[in-house]
Amino acid sequence: MAKVLVFIEQRDGKAKKASYEILSAAAAAASNETHAVVVGDGVAGLAKEIGTYGAATVHVVENAALKLYSCEAYSKAVKAAIDAVKPDIFLASHSPMGKDFVPAVAALCDAGLVTDCTSVTFEGAKLKLKRPMYSGKAICDATIVAAGIQMATVRANSLGAPKMDAAKTATVQNVAVDLGGMKTKILEIVKGNSSRPDVTEAGIVISGGRSLKSAENFKMLEDMADVLGAAVGASRAAVDAGYRPHRDQVGQTGKVVSPSLYIATGISGAIQHLAGMRTSKIIVAINNDPNAPIFQVADYSIVGDLFQIIPALTAEFKKLKEST
Ligand SMILES: Cc1cc2nc3c(=O)[nH]c(=O)nc-3n(C[C@H](O)[C@H](O)[C@H](O)COP(=O)(O)OP(=O)(O)OC[C@H]3O[C@@H](n4cnc5c(N)ncnc54)[C@H](O)[C@@H]3O)c2cc1C
Repeated sequence: MAKVLVFIEQRDGKAKKASYEILSAAAAAASNETHAVVVGDGVAGLAKEIGTYGAATVHVVENAALKLYSCEAYSKAVKAAIDAVKPDIFLASHSPMGKDFVPAVAALCDAGLVTDCTSVTFEGAKLKLKRPMYSGKAICDATIVAAGIQMATVRANSLGAPKMDAAKTATVQNVAVDLGGMKTKILEIVKGNSSRPDVTEAGIVISGGRSLKSAENFKMLEDMADVLGAAVGASRAAVDAGYRPHRDQVGQTGKVVSPSLYIATGISGAIQHLAGMRTSKIIVAINNDPNAPIFQVADYSIVGDLFQIIPALTAEFKKLKEST
């Protein structure tokens, strides 16, 4: 039997799908006693929904100082929940937030941590993990040998779709945290103005490279994304050229994505780009160079001019959507 605590990431009171993916997977293992922790200000109302994804108990850490995310405050809040629950295992999403604060929690708990896992299995109270290494060229098996709580962060879209059961309910526990003597205070978080899903969370990502030639030409990818309900990503060359904001960059120095479908348009497939997308379930590459390295990882390769192929594909997707 393993006591598992899953961190539920929320923004403005809305939980992230990637957290529910982890919670569902933990709850699906019969040998687990599954708990969840949610942190913020005015987030207790989420507990009911969290329960439907399989948490037996939802631990709520609320405090006005937790309204805006900061590593210092969130790591203290989660440490307080860990002290209250005393789990064998702590899991969180490998989101920008998870990447930021989970190592701090591990340090506070003196715990072993494996980050960016793409597979998590529970063998009794022991975690068995897989994570990509060397920009995805190798996958390593990992376990945590140190005594005490085991921690891992999990790449979004790695553990299957979250399973919700409206009949499931959770017990709610409030956890107090002392946030006195904080060294930092977040005054404001300025949000990006995109209404599209984030590339790390979307089931479909359509990315464009330098060959799109301008920010305006990305409108072609946005049109396709609107039809497919997808996010729009970019190579670093496209971001450096100012065609897209850095938040859309996929790769080693951008975001790591693992969607069901990744469409790479006019992207050469440099190792640093592959590091961010090669664990995608299906990869479609469109490139006018038949020898482009992206084709080595592609499941479907389209050789041709993206300026002709993208509008044609979008028109076909539209027709398909309208006929269903
Ligand atoms: C430390 C470091 C970190 C990096 N991190 C990242 C990262 O996070 N993400 C990232 O993406 N890169 C990263 N890079 C940069 C990376 O090495 C490549 O330079 C970059 O990915 C290239 O972007 P690109 O494929 O858009 O451009 P290019 O390499 O210029 O490729 C353009 C491609 O478009 C094709 N093409 C041209 N015209 C058309 C057309 N009309 N129709 C179809 N295809 C066409 C060409 O054949 C070519 O394959 C990093 C580099 C370093 C050194």
